[in-house]
Amino acid sequence: MTDYTITRYNPYTDQELIEAVQKYADEHKIKNAASSSFCKWFGISETTIQRHFDTWANFCKAAGLSPRYSRFVNKEDLLNNLEKVWSELGRQPRAKEIKQPLSPISISRYQKVFRKNWYEICLEFISWKSGASVEEIERELRHVPAVESDTQFNHKTNRNISLSIRYDILKRDNFRCVKCGASPALNPGSQLHIDHKLPWSKGGETEEDNLQTLCSDCNLGKSNKT
Ligand SMILES: [Zn+2]
Repeated sequence: MTDYTITRYNPYTDQELIEAVQKYADEHKIKNAASSSFCKWFGISETTIQRHFDTWANFCKAAGLSPRYSRFVNKEDLLNNLEKVWSELGRQPRAKEIKQPLSPISISRYQKVFRKNWYEICLEFISWKSGASVEEIERELRHVPAVESDTQFNHKTNRNISLSIRYDILKRDNFRCVKCGASPALNPGSQLHIDHKLPWSKGGETEEDNLQTLCSDCNLGKSNKT
């Protein structure tokens, strides 16, 4: 993909930024640094750090410091952080794992901002990544297989697609519909669903090979046909 965004010429190298934050920490006699205060002190925008190091946490790690988050992290910061932790673990994180060194943001901060339990926060995360509403995902998760299909096929797997599997498939498919390429990031309003290629009712299993990411439109066009 061609990137047409015009970036201002950046006079700093990675190393210069690292030395700057180390000097900042020295001067302030701190071991952890907050993005906003450092950037203000050094006279750069926070996006400069993002451009060089992707995240504030990466930057601090490179400088041998611990990242500190302002008291005013918003939901998006928390969801972005959850995505990092989830990717790093390669599975759905447990509540007790949301702490240093894995997560620079604590579980209590999540609970304070979302006012939800950890499972519900993970649900909201999948909703955020897929564009599908929390209610919809919950409905899919609660789906009880019909008695006939239960006995007709000797299923090895559960029909319900857990949050963990959902994330794996979304990620494998680059958070896009495999048919038309729709993605909530590029096409606001589009919703991604995880679909059994061979329907469960026809003996399909809840396995990576039999699952795919589809947007609502492509999903509806498909229904029970394969
Ligand atoms: Zn589609």
